[in-house]
Amino acid sequence: MNKCSGKYRFLVFFFLILVFNSNAQEVNEPRGNAEWIKPYEPFRIAGNLYYVGTYDLACYLIVTDEGNILINTGLASSASQIKNNVEKLGFKFSAIRILLTTQAHYDHLGAMAAIKKQTGAKFLVDAADADVVVTGGKSDYEMGKYGMTFQPVQADGFLNDGDSISFGGTTLKLLHHPGHTKGSCSYLFIVKDDQRSYKILIANLPTIIVNRRFEDIHDYPNIANDYAYTLHAMKNIHFDLWFASHASQFHLHEKHQPGDAYNPMVFADQKGYDEALAELQKRYDEKIQEDKKLK
Ligand SMILES: [Zn+2]
Repeated sequence: MNKCSGKYRFLVFFFLILVFNSNAQEVNEPRGNAEWIKPYEPFRIAGNLYYVGTYDLACYLIVTDEGNILINTGLASSASQIKNNVEKLGFKFSAIRILLTTQAHYDHLGAMAAIKKQTGAKFLVDAADADVVVTGGKSDYEMGKYGMTFQPVQADGFLNDGDSISFGGTTLKLLHHPGHTKGSCSYLFIVKDDQRSYKILIANLPTIIVNRRFEDIHDYPNIANDYAYTLHAMKNIHFDLWFASHASQFHLHEKHQPGDAYNPMVFADQKGYDEALAELQKRYDEKIQEDKKLK
């Protein structure tokens, strides 16, 4: 009897530990929209650069002789879609060696921990998002209100503005573009095909996600200056083709249809880039005016 209840107490104790741990680890991924989840046909963008994301969550694969680089991973549920897309293009998922992101939000990092585990690739992140990636978004100045929004992921290295990531003959330059998150960033690199080379910009557009006054964001006191810096910096980038964190932001679906022949130049769209930045600048200026009125 004694022995039995002792065992029972032990089981209850063990059960409570399990419950406690699973609560501590629970990921509360906000509901995404249908276009984030919708599968999308992967395709070769230009040279060794491929699109492997979902219909709207842009994920980019850079293929090299030494292994591949994946930029962004979508939601937690995107992991299998990205894997299928990579394999559909004829590449090995396990050949991914470097993992990067444009921003530490759940719709770009959701599957990062899982893909890192599956591939053993090294995850490098903008140093200013270092804290948010290990807390699974819990320490994010805005998304933190939902708790942990993605599975925490340990970074293998931190990157600062202007840092180069050289791998397998491709060199990516990190451009620190803070505001949307503290460590949002863009990537600039060159790819080649048998015709020519292309300077590629994968831009993290500085959209504003808060309704509060910038001044009231005590977890991110420099947010207004960071947006101003990023908007200015982005106007001075020279590129041949541009892309973004969301397909809708660079109008992927107006430029490319599944099954279209290889045609990198459809992404040569300086006008679309300038318009997107002008719209973001307008939105920022309005926000500063709204904040003043609320004083
Ligand atoms: Zn975001």
